[in-house]
Amino acid sequence: KAPILDIRKLTTCFSSPQGIAKAVDTVSLSFMQGETLAIVGESGCGKTVLALSILGLIPDPPGRVTEGEILYRGDDLLDMNEDELRRIRGNHISMIFQEPMTALNPVFRINDQIAEPLILHRRIDKGEAREKVVEALSLVGIPNPAKVAEAYPHELSGGMRQRVMIAMALACDPDILIADEPTTALDVTIQAQILDLMNELKERMDGSLMLITHDLGVVARMAQRVAVMYSGKIVELSEAGPLYKKPLHPYTQGLLASVPTLGDRTDITPIPGIVPSIFDLPEGCRFHPRCPKAFAKCSLILPPLTEPEPGRFVRCWLYD
Ligand code: SF4
Repeated sequence: KAPILDIRKLTTCFSSPQGIAKAVDTVSLSFMQGETLAIVGESGCGKTVLALSILGLIPDPPGRVTEGEILYRGDDLLDMNEDELRRIRGNHISMIFQEPMTALNPVFRINDQIAEPLILHRRIDKGEAREKVVEALSLVGIPNPAKVAEAYPHELSGGMRQRVMIAMALACDPDILIADEPTTALDVTIQAQILDLMNELKERMDGSLMLITHDLGVVARMAQRVAVMYSGKIVELSEAGPLYKKPLHPYTQGLLASVPTLGDRTDITPIPGIVPSIFDLPEGCRFHPRCPKAFAKCSLILPPLTEPEPGRFVRCWLYD
């Protein structure tokens, strides 16, 4: 079966007074129809840049996709002009952002915000668009959707705004939904509800979901596959089951040990140190200054991505 989205050797660079650096560094990843794929890593690891690169939303300058291909149903998104990309974003690939208040326009009613892309991309009239808006709002479990359609974003709670964002992303029936930390700003109970909702809608649309998060606990119930990113590179890629059972990369092991939503809450061990700046990456394995298992070779040569077990990929000298 051909992947719905096939990312090949994607590199996205950013420039700053310190020089030019790769925020996403030759990342290859394929994404199947109906699949939930989680992209996991701390902030600064390149997850959001990867998502924005797919959508053609990298601010240029200072950023730019410098290499690679992003094949959507066989067509390279990187070859498309802004009009074509806008059509893809409105109709086929949608994104749900972390903080709904930054993505929702405070001066427009919810109805106008959701209806606008429908009128634009589907060429339907205002009345029809409004019906679709109410339908989308009720699909995401918003009580009294007709009333909420008339509200302004600030009149809604955080959980409700996030539901509105999901309704907005789904109104055009995308076949790929990219959700960037969709529940971070919400409390734990609402988080679980929103995740269940996204899962349910994904199944109903037979679409694919790319879930971006720093919290492996959040995706444990949902993802079929997990890609762990560190300093712009994929360091582990695996089916979710084996990865949770036996994480191979020391970074994945560290992420799992530091997850508050998994297992015993008293037993949280944060990973020491911080993610390095992309403008000042260490030599060798980029994780070596923080890795409890580092040995001499690690600080000298960057390990390649290898497949020590069938279907499990890892970038670490321990598995060479
Ligand atoms: Fe740790 Fe070395 Fe593996 Fe990097 S290559 S993760 S430093 S053991």
